[in-house]
Amino acid sequence: MRYISTRGQTPPESFQDAVLTGLAPDGGLLVPETIPDVRDRLDAWRELSFQDLALEIVSLFCDDIPRPDLARLIERAYASFDHPEVTPTVQVGDQHILELWHGPTLAFKDVALQLLGHLFEYILEARGQSLNILGATSGDTGSAAIAGVRGRGNIHIFIMFPRGRTSRVQELQMTTVGDANVHALSIDGSFDDCQALLKATFGDLEIKQGMRLGAVNSVNWARVMAQIVYYFHAGLRQRAPVSFAVPTGNFGDIFAGWLAARMGLPVERLILATNENDILSVFFNTGVYRRGQVRHTISPSMDIQVASNFERFLYYLCGEDAQRLSQHMADFAERGELRFEAGGAGGIDPLFQARAVDAATTLATIRGTWCSHGYLLDPHTAVGVAAAAELAPGAPVICLATAHPAKFPEAVQEAVGEDLAHHPAVDALAGKPVRSVELPADVDAVKAFVREHGIR
Ligand SMILES: *Cc1c(COP(=O)(O)O)cnc(C)c1O
Repeated sequence: MRYISTRGQTPPESFQDAVLTGLAPDGGLLVPETIPDVRDRLDAWRELSFQDLALEIVSLFCDDIPRPDLARLIERAYASFDHPEVTPTVQVGDQHILELWHGPTLAFKDVALQLLGHLFEYILEARGQSLNILGATSGDTGSAAIAGVRGRGNIHIFIMFPRGRTSRVQELQMTTVGDANVHALSIDGSFDDCQALLKATFGDLEIKQGMRLGAVNSVNWARVMAQIVYYFHAGLRQRAPVSFAVPTGNFGDIFAGWLAARMGLPVERLILATNENDILSVFFNTGVYRRGQVRHTISPSMDIQVASNFERFLYYLCGEDAQRLSQHMADFAERGELRFEAGGAGGIDPLFQARAVDAATTLATIRGTWCSHGYLLDPHTAVGVAAAAELAPGAPVICLATAHPAKFPEAVQEAVGEDLAHHPAVDALAGKPVRSVELPADVDAVKAFVREHGIR
Protein backbone atom coordinates (compact mmCIF):
# COMPACT_ATOMS: atom_id res chain seq x y z
CA MET A 1 0.00 0.00 0.00
CA ARG A 2 1.30 3.47 -0.92
CA TYR A 3 0.28 6.73 0.77
CA ILE A 4 -0.65 9.91 -1.07
CA SER A 5 -1.29 13.43 0.15
CA THR A 6 -4.75 15.00 0.32
CA ARG A 7 -3.19 18.04 -1.40
CA GLY A 8 -1.82 15.94 -4.28
CA GLN A 9 1.67 17.47 -4.40
CA THR A 10 3.73 14.70 -2.77
CA PRO A 11 5.06 11.55 -4.48
CA PRO A 12 3.51 8.36 -3.03
CA GLU A 13 5.23 7.09 0.12
CA SER A 14 5.62 3.64 1.67
CA PHE A 15 3.87 2.75 4.94
CA GLN A 16 7.12 3.04 6.91
CA ASP A 17 7.82 6.49 5.49
CA ALA A 18 4.22 7.56 6.16
CA VAL A 19 4.61 6.54 9.82
CA LEU A 20 7.83 8.51 10.24
CA THR A 21 6.67 11.56 8.23
CA GLY A 22 3.38 12.28 9.98
CA LEU A 23 2.35 15.31 7.91
CA ALA A 24 2.88 15.26 4.12
CA PRO A 25 5.58 17.70 2.90
CA ASP A 26 2.98 19.66 0.86
CA GLY A 27 1.04 20.44 4.06
CA GLY A 28 -1.65 17.82 3.40
CA LEU A 29 -2.43 14.62 5.26
CA LEU A 30 -1.39 11.16 4.06
CA VAL A 31 -4.13 8.73 3.03
CA PRO A 32 -3.85 5.20 1.59
CA GLU A 33 -3.98 5.07 -2.21
CA THR A 34 -7.04 2.81 -1.98
CA ILE A 35 -9.39 1.76 0.81
CA PRO A 36 -9.50 -2.06 0.98
CA ASP A 37 -12.85 -3.84 0.63
CA VAL A 38 -13.13 -6.63 3.21
CA ARG A 39 -16.78 -7.69 2.83
CA ASP A 40 -15.78 -11.22 1.76
CA ARG A 41 -13.85 -11.71 5.03
CA LEU A 42 -16.30 -10.53 7.66
CA ASP A 43 -17.50 -13.99 8.68
CA ALA A 44 -13.95 -15.28 8.99
CA TRP A 45 -13.06 -12.28 11.16
CA ARG A 46 -16.01 -12.54 13.53
CA GLU A 47 -14.40 -14.70 16.21
CA LEU A 48 -10.84 -13.39 15.99
CA SER A 49 -9.13 -12.04 19.08
CA PHE A 50 -8.36 -8.32 19.12
CA GLN A 51 -4.70 -9.01 18.32
CA ASP A 52 -5.45 -11.40 15.44
CA LEU A 53 -7.97 -8.99 13.99
CA ALA A 54 -5.46 -6.15 14.33
CA LEU A 55 -2.93 -8.22 12.38
CA GLU A 56 -5.43 -8.79 9.55
CA ILE A 57 -6.40 -5.12 9.35
CA VAL A 58 -2.92 -3.63 9.75
CA SER A 59 -1.57 -6.04 7.10
CA LEU A 60 -3.94 -4.49 4.57
CA PHE A 61 -2.35 -1.07 5.08
CA CYS A 62 1.24 -2.11 5.71
CA ASP A 63 3.12 -4.20 3.14
CA ASP A 64 6.68 -3.29 4.08
CA ILE A 65 6.94 -5.06 7.44
CA PRO A 66 6.99 -8.90 7.34
CA ARG A 67 3.83 -10.44 8.82
CA PRO A 68 5.56 -12.35 11.67
CA ASP A 69 7.28 -9.09 12.75
CA LEU A 70 3.98 -7.24 12.62
CA ALA A 71 2.34 -9.96 14.72
CA ARG A 72 5.06 -9.55 17.34
CA LEU A 73 4.72 -5.74 17.44
CA ILE A 74 0.94 -6.02 17.88
CA GLU A 75 1.29 -8.67 20.57
CA ARG A 76 3.71 -6.48 22.54
CA ALA A 77 1.70 -3.28 22.07
CA TYR A 78 -1.47 -4.73 23.57
CA ALA A 79 0.27 -6.70 26.33
CA SER A 80 0.19 -3.38 28.24
CA PHE A 81 -3.64 -3.48 28.40
CA ASP A 82 -5.22 -4.80 31.59
CA HIS A 83 -8.12 -6.66 29.92
CA PRO A 84 -7.75 -9.93 27.94
CA GLU A 85 -10.10 -8.62 25.22
CA VAL A 86 -8.11 -5.33 25.02
CA THR A 87 -11.25 -3.31 24.15
CA PRO A 88 -14.22 -5.14 25.76
CA THR A 89 -17.86 -4.18 25.22
CA VAL A 90 -20.18 -4.19 28.24
CA GLN A 91 -23.94 -3.76 28.28
CA VAL A 92 -25.31 -0.83 30.29
CA GLY A 93 -29.09 -0.53 29.97
CA ASP A 94 -29.96 -0.37 26.26
CA GLN A 95 -26.50 0.77 25.27
CA HIS A 96 -23.32 -1.14 24.68
CA ILE A 97 -20.26 0.59 26.09
CA LEU A 98 -17.03 -0.08 24.22
CA GLU A 99 -14.34 0.39 26.88
CA LEU A 100 -11.29 1.79 25.11
CA TRP A 101 -9.49 2.81 28.31
CA HIS A 102 -7.78 -0.39 29.45
CA GLY A 103 -4.31 0.86 28.40
CA PRO A 104 -1.61 2.42 30.59
CA THR A 105 -2.94 6.02 30.64
CA LEU A 106 -6.66 5.09 30.82
CA ALA A 107 -7.68 6.88 27.60
CA PHE A 108 -8.45 5.53 24.13
CA LYS A 109 -5.34 7.20 22.71
CA ASP A 110 -3.32 4.29 24.16
CA VAL A 111 -4.84 1.92 21.56
CA ALA A 112 -3.02 3.76 18.79
CA LEU A 113 0.00 5.16 20.63
CA GLN A 114 1.07 1.84 22.17
CA LEU A 115 1.27 0.39 18.65
CA LEU A 116 2.89 3.53 17.22
CA GLY A 117 5.67 3.35 19.84
CA HIS A 118 6.53 -0.19 18.73
CA LEU A 119 6.31 0.74 15.04
CA PHE A 120 8.67 3.69 15.57
CA GLU A 121 11.21 1.55 17.39
CA TYR A 122 11.09 -1.19 14.76
CA ILE A 123 11.45 1.14 11.78
CA LEU A 124 14.22 3.19 13.38
CA GLU A 125 16.16 0.06 14.35
CA ALA A 126 15.93 -1.34 10.82
CA ARG A 127 17.23 1.96 9.43
CA GLY A 128 19.82 2.61 12.11
CA GLN A 129 18.18 5.96 12.88
CA SER A 130 17.06 7.84 15.94
CA LEU A 131 14.16 10.22 16.52
CA ASN A 132 13.39 13.14 18.83
CA ILE A 133 9.63 13.43 19.25
CA LEU A 134 8.35 16.89 20.06
CA GLY A 135 4.72 17.35 21.04
CA ALA A 136 2.33 19.84 22.63
CA THR A 137 -0.55 18.61 24.73
CA SER A 138 -3.51 19.84 26.67
CA GLY A 139 -3.60 16.48 28.46
CA ASP A 140 -4.34 13.00 27.13
CA THR A 141 -2.15 12.94 24.02
CA GLY A 142 1.03 13.80 25.92
CA SER A 143 0.67 11.11 28.56
CA ALA A 144 -0.33 8.44 26.03
CA ALA A 145 2.55 9.39 23.72
CA ILE A 146 5.01 9.24 26.62
CA ALA A 147 3.65 5.84 27.70
CA GLY A 148 4.09 4.63 24.09
CA VAL A 149 7.84 5.37 23.83
CA ARG A 150 9.19 5.44 27.40
CA GLY A 151 12.37 3.47 27.86
CA ARG A 152 13.06 2.97 24.12
CA GLY A 153 16.71 3.27 23.10
CA ASN A 154 16.48 5.14 19.82
CA ILE A 155 13.80 7.71 20.77
CA HIS A 156 13.64 10.72 23.05
CA ILE A 157 10.32 12.45 23.66
CA PHE A 158 9.73 16.08 24.65
CA ILE A 159 6.17 16.98 25.60
CA MET A 160 5.23 20.61 26.24
CA PHE A 161 2.23 21.23 28.48
CA PRO A 162 0.77 24.49 29.84
CA ARG A 163 1.82 24.74 33.50
CA GLY A 164 -1.14 24.48 35.86
CA ARG A 165 -3.69 24.16 33.06
CA THR A 166 -3.91 20.41 32.55
CA SER A 167 -5.83 18.29 35.05
CA ARG A 168 -3.94 17.01 38.09
CA VAL A 169 -4.09 13.39 36.90
CA GLN A 170 -2.96 14.29 33.39
CA GLU A 171 0.04 16.24 34.71
CA LEU A 172 1.09 13.43 37.07
CA GLN A 173 0.86 10.90 34.24
CA MET A 174 3.47 12.96 32.38
CA THR A 175 5.75 13.97 35.23
CA THR A 176 6.00 10.71 37.22
CA VAL A 177 7.64 8.75 34.39
CA GLY A 178 11.25 8.15 35.44
CA ASP A 179 12.75 7.02 32.12
CA ALA A 180 15.75 9.02 30.90
CA ASN A 181 14.32 9.41 27.37
CA VAL A 182 11.21 11.25 28.62
CA HIS A 183 11.22 15.05 29.03
CA ALA A 184 8.05 16.70 30.36
CA LEU A 185 8.38 20.41 29.61
CA SER A 186 6.22 22.56 31.86
CA ILE A 187 5.72 25.73 29.82
CA ASP A 188 4.91 29.07 31.40
CA GLY A 189 1.96 29.76 29.05
CA SER A 190 -1.27 28.46 27.55
CA PHE A 191 -1.90 25.44 25.34
CA ASP A 192 -1.94 27.81 22.35
CA ASP A 193 1.53 28.99 23.36
CA CYS A 194 2.70 25.37 23.43
CA GLN A 195 1.29 24.77 19.96
CA ALA A 196 2.93 27.94 18.65
CA LEU A 197 6.27 26.78 20.10
CA LEU A 198 5.80 23.41 18.41
CA LYS A 199 5.06 25.00 15.06
CA ALA A 200 7.97 27.43 15.31
CA THR A 201 10.41 24.65 16.22
CA PHE A 202 9.24 22.42 13.35
CA GLY A 203 9.48 25.45 11.04
CA ASP A 204 13.23 25.67 11.71
CA LEU A 205 14.62 23.17 9.17
CA GLU A 206 18.05 23.19 10.76
CA ILE A 207 16.80 21.72 14.02
CA LYS A 208 14.05 19.67 12.37
CA GLN A 209 16.53 17.83 10.16
CA GLY A 210 19.61 18.10 12.36
CA MET A 211 17.83 16.63 15.39
CA ARG A 212 15.43 14.38 13.36
CA LEU A 213 12.30 15.80 14.93
CA GLY A 214 9.19 13.63 14.73
CA ALA A 215 5.53 14.24 15.59
CA VAL A 216 2.92 12.08 17.33
CA ASN A 217 -0.25 14.12 16.99
CA SER A 218 -3.37 12.55 15.56
CA VAL A 219 -2.53 13.34 11.95
CA ASN A 220 -0.17 10.35 11.92
CA TRP A 221 -1.78 7.73 9.67
CA ALA A 222 -0.81 4.85 11.97
CA ARG A 223 -3.00 6.31 14.71
CA VAL A 224 -6.10 6.29 12.50
CA MET A 225 -5.28 2.80 11.24
CA ALA A 226 -4.95 1.32 14.73
CA GLN A 227 -8.34 2.75 15.68
CA ILE A 228 -10.14 0.99 12.81
CA VAL A 229 -9.57 -2.32 14.62
CA TYR A 230 -11.92 -1.76 17.55
CA TYR A 231 -14.84 -0.79 15.31
CA PHE A 232 -14.58 -4.19 13.59
CA HIS A 233 -13.91 -6.01 16.88
CA ALA A 234 -17.02 -4.58 18.55
CA GLY A 235 -19.23 -4.37 15.44
CA LEU A 236 -18.70 -7.93 14.20
CA ARG A 237 -19.77 -9.39 17.56
CA GLN A 238 -23.25 -7.89 17.18
CA ARG A 239 -24.16 -9.87 14.00
CA ALA A 240 -26.39 -7.07 12.70
CA PRO A 241 -25.71 -3.55 11.44
CA VAL A 242 -24.78 -1.34 14.39
CA SER A 243 -24.54 2.34 15.20
CA PHE A 244 -21.60 3.89 17.02
CA ALA A 245 -21.70 7.02 19.20
CA VAL A 246 -18.33 8.76 19.23
CA PRO A 247 -17.28 11.71 21.42
CA THR A 248 -15.27 13.82 19.02
CA GLY A 249 -12.59 16.53 19.08
CA ASN A 250 -9.99 16.16 16.34
CA PHE A 251 -12.14 13.84 14.18
CA GLY A 252 -9.51 11.07 14.46
CA ASP A 253 -11.52 8.46 16.30
CA ILE A 254 -14.74 8.85 14.31
CA PHE A 255 -12.83 9.03 11.02
CA ALA A 256 -11.52 5.52 11.79
CA GLY A 257 -15.18 4.46 12.18
CA TRP A 258 -16.03 5.98 8.81
CA LEU A 259 -13.13 4.03 7.24
CA ALA A 260 -14.37 0.80 8.86
CA ALA A 261 -17.79 1.37 7.27
CA ARG A 262 -16.20 2.19 3.93
CA MET A 263 -14.17 -1.05 4.14
CA GLY A 264 -17.40 -2.99 4.53
CA LEU A 265 -18.32 -3.20 8.22
CA PRO A 266 -22.15 -2.99 8.36
CA VAL A 267 -22.73 0.38 10.10
CA GLU A 268 -26.15 1.97 10.36
CA ARG A 269 -25.16 5.34 11.79
CA LEU A 270 -22.13 7.15 13.13
CA ILE A 271 -23.33 9.48 15.86
CA LEU A 272 -20.88 12.36 16.13
CA ALA A 273 -21.01 13.98 19.56
CA THR A 274 -19.23 17.20 20.51
CA ASN A 275 -19.24 19.31 23.64
CA GLU A 276 -19.94 23.06 23.41
CA ASN A 277 -17.05 23.31 20.94
CA ASP A 278 -19.46 22.40 18.17
CA ILE A 279 -17.65 23.24 14.91
CA LEU A 280 -18.03 19.62 13.71
CA SER A 281 -21.64 19.10 14.72
CA VAL A 282 -22.54 22.39 13.02
CA PHE A 283 -20.75 21.24 9.88
CA PHE A 284 -22.66 17.97 9.65
CA ASN A 285 -25.95 19.73 10.19
CA THR A 286 -25.39 22.73 7.89
CA GLY A 287 -22.37 22.18 5.62
CA VAL A 288 -20.62 25.22 7.12
CA TYR A 289 -17.28 24.65 8.85
CA ARG A 290 -16.43 27.80 10.81
CA ARG A 291 -13.66 28.44 13.30
CA GLY A 292 -14.74 29.90 16.66
CA GLN A 293 -13.24 30.57 20.09
CA VAL A 294 -12.22 27.53 22.12
CA ARG A 295 -14.45 27.09 25.18
CA HIS A 296 -13.22 25.29 28.27
CA THR A 297 -15.53 22.47 29.27
CA ILE A 298 -15.69 19.49 31.62
CA SER A 299 -14.59 17.27 28.69
CA PRO A 300 -11.27 19.06 28.02
CA SER A 301 -9.86 16.55 25.53
CA MET A 302 -12.56 17.69 23.11
CA ASP A 303 -11.98 21.42 23.63
CA ILE A 304 -10.84 21.84 20.06
CA GLN A 305 -11.97 24.16 17.32
CA VAL A 306 -10.07 23.12 14.22
CA ALA A 307 -10.15 19.32 13.92
CA SER A 308 -6.78 18.23 12.56
CA ASN A 309 -8.10 15.04 10.96
CA PHE A 310 -11.11 16.62 9.28
CA GLU A 311 -9.11 17.29 6.11
CA ARG A 312 -8.94 13.56 5.41
CA PHE A 313 -12.71 13.18 5.50
CA LEU A 314 -13.23 16.31 3.40
CA TYR A 315 -10.85 14.83 0.81
CA TYR A 316 -13.20 11.86 0.39
CA LEU A 317 -16.26 14.13 0.41
CA CYS A 318 -14.60 15.95 -2.51
CA GLY A 319 -14.43 12.67 -4.43
CA GLU A 320 -10.68 12.31 -3.75
CA ASP A 321 -10.12 15.45 -5.82
CA ALA A 322 -6.96 17.00 -4.30
CA GLN A 323 -7.46 20.25 -6.17
CA ARG A 324 -10.99 20.77 -4.91
CA LEU A 325 -9.89 19.87 -1.38
CA SER A 326 -6.97 22.32 -1.57
CA GLN A 327 -9.38 25.09 -2.60
CA HIS A 328 -11.58 24.37 0.44
CA MET A 329 -8.56 24.41 2.76
CA ALA A 330 -7.32 27.67 1.22
CA ASP A 331 -10.78 29.20 1.81
CA PHE A 332 -10.67 28.06 5.40
CA ALA A 333 -7.15 29.40 5.98
CA GLU A 334 -8.14 32.74 4.50
CA ARG A 335 -11.61 33.31 5.95
CA GLY A 336 -11.82 30.86 8.87
CA GLU A 337 -14.78 29.25 7.13
CA LEU A 338 -15.58 26.79 4.38
CA ARG A 339 -18.88 25.67 2.88
CA PHE A 340 -19.59 22.26 1.46
CA GLU A 341 -22.59 21.87 -0.82
CA ALA A 342 -24.04 18.40 -0.33
CA GLY A 343 -25.25 16.72 -3.50
CA GLY A 344 -28.09 14.49 -2.29
CA ALA A 345 -31.00 14.79 0.09
CA GLY A 346 -29.26 13.07 3.00
CA GLY A 347 -27.27 16.08 4.18
CA ILE A 348 -23.48 16.00 4.14
CA ASP A 349 -23.26 12.23 4.52
CA PRO A 350 -26.30 10.15 5.50
CA LEU A 351 -24.10 7.87 7.60
CA PHE A 352 -23.55 10.67 10.12
CA GLN A 353 -25.84 12.20 12.71
CA ALA A 354 -24.37 14.97 14.83
CA ARG A 355 -25.19 16.63 18.15
CA ALA A 356 -23.52 19.09 20.52
CA VAL A 357 -24.08 18.25 24.19
CA ASP A 358 -23.83 20.88 26.93
CA ALA A 359 -22.31 20.54 30.40
CA ALA A 360 -25.65 20.19 32.23
CA THR A 361 -26.74 17.30 29.97
CA THR A 362 -23.33 15.67 30.32
CA LEU A 363 -23.49 15.80 34.12
CA ALA A 364 -27.10 14.56 34.11
CA THR A 365 -26.06 11.63 31.90
CA ILE A 366 -23.25 10.65 34.29
CA ARG A 367 -25.67 10.88 37.22
CA GLY A 368 -28.48 9.02 35.44
CA THR A 369 -26.27 6.18 34.25
CA TRP A 370 -24.81 5.80 37.75
CA CYS A 371 -28.20 5.82 39.47
CA SER A 372 -29.93 3.47 36.99
CA HIS A 373 -27.14 1.05 36.22
CA GLY A 374 -24.32 1.56 38.74
CA TYR A 375 -21.90 2.34 35.92
CA LEU A 376 -19.66 5.43 36.00
CA LEU A 377 -19.06 7.33 32.77
CA ASP A 378 -16.25 9.81 32.26
CA PRO A 379 -17.41 13.22 30.95
CA HIS A 380 -16.21 12.55 27.36
CA THR A 381 -17.98 9.20 27.14
CA ALA A 382 -21.08 10.82 28.66
CA VAL A 383 -21.22 13.30 25.77
CA GLY A 384 -21.49 10.36 23.36
CA VAL A 385 -24.02 8.49 25.49
CA ALA A 386 -26.18 11.62 25.75
CA ALA A 387 -26.13 12.13 21.97
CA ALA A 388 -27.06 8.47 21.41
CA ALA A 389 -29.99 8.73 23.83
CA GLU A 390 -31.23 11.82 22.01
CA LEU A 391 -30.79 10.61 18.43
CA ALA A 392 -31.56 6.90 18.72
CA PRO A 393 -33.73 6.45 21.81
CA GLY A 394 -34.17 2.78 22.64
CA ALA A 395 -32.03 1.48 19.78
CA PRO A 396 -28.89 -0.40 20.76
CA VAL A 397 -25.89 1.77 20.04
CA ILE A 398 -22.24 1.02 20.71
CA CYS A 399 -20.98 4.04 22.67
CA LEU A 400 -17.24 4.53 22.64
CA ALA A 401 -15.90 5.01 26.17
CA THR A 402 -12.78 7.11 25.55
CA ALA A 403 -11.50 7.52 29.12
CA HIS A 404 -11.82 5.91 32.53
CA PRO A 405 -13.77 8.17 34.94
CA ALA A 406 -10.80 8.25 37.36
CA LYS A 407 -9.00 10.52 34.88
CA PHE A 408 -11.66 13.19 35.46
CA PRO A 409 -12.71 12.73 39.10
CA GLU A 410 -13.80 16.37 39.58
CA ALA A 411 -16.53 16.16 36.92
CA VAL A 412 -17.70 12.80 38.23
CA GLN A 413 -17.89 14.16 41.77
CA GLU A 414 -19.86 17.15 40.55
CA ALA A 415 -22.30 14.81 38.78
CA VAL A 416 -22.89 12.19 41.47
CA GLY A 417 -22.02 14.21 44.59
CA GLU A 418 -19.44 11.71 45.81
CA ASP A 419 -15.76 10.97 45.20
CA LEU A 420 -16.40 7.69 43.40
CA ALA A 421 -14.04 7.73 40.43
CA HIS A 422 -10.94 5.75 41.33
CA HIS A 423 -8.51 3.45 39.57
CA PRO A 424 -5.41 1.85 41.11
CA ALA A 425 -3.19 3.31 38.39
CA VAL A 426 -4.36 6.84 39.24
CA ASP A 427 -4.27 6.36 43.01
CA ALA A 428 -0.69 5.05 42.68
CA LEU A 429 0.44 8.33 41.07
CA ALA A 430 0.00 10.25 44.31
CA GLY A 431 3.20 9.20 46.09
CA LYS A 432 5.51 9.03 43.09
CA PRO A 433 8.43 11.44 42.61
CA VAL A 434 7.74 14.03 39.90
CA ARG A 435 10.17 15.29 37.33
CA SER A 436 9.63 18.10 34.83
CA VAL A 437 11.57 21.00 33.39
CA GLU A 438 10.15 24.51 33.66
CA LEU A 439 10.71 26.56 30.54
CA PRO A 440 9.48 30.00 29.49
CA ALA A 441 7.19 30.20 26.42
CA ASP A 442 10.21 31.01 24.32
CA VAL A 443 11.17 29.10 21.18
CA ASP A 444 14.92 29.56 21.67
CA ALA A 445 14.70 28.04 25.14
CA VAL A 446 12.82 25.01 23.76
CA LYS A 447 15.26 24.55 20.88
CA ALA A 448 18.27 24.83 23.20
CA PHE A 449 16.79 22.21 25.52
CA VAL A 450 16.07 19.76 22.70
CA ARG A 451 19.57 20.25 21.25
CA GLU A 452 21.19 19.65 24.60
CA HIS A 453 19.13 16.65 25.74
CA GLY A 454 18.00 15.01 22.49
CA ILE A 455 19.44 11.86 20.96
CA ARG A 456 21.78 12.28 17.96
C1 LIG B 1 -8.67 12.74 22.43
C2 LIG B 1 -9.91 12.39 23.16
C3 LIG B 1 -11.18 12.47 22.52
C4 LIG B 1 -11.36 13.00 21.12
O1 LIG B 1 -10.84 12.14 20.13
P1 LIG B 1 -10.59 12.69 18.64
O2 LIG B 1 -9.91 11.57 17.91
O3 LIG B 1 -9.71 13.88 18.81
O4 LIG B 1 -11.91 13.02 18.07
C5 LIG B 1 -12.29 12.06 23.25
N1 LIG B 1 -12.18 11.63 24.52
C6 LIG B 1 -11.00 11.52 25.15
C7 LIG B 1 -10.96 11.05 26.56
C8 LIG B 1 -9.81 11.90 24.49
O5 LIG B 1 -8.64 11.81 25.14
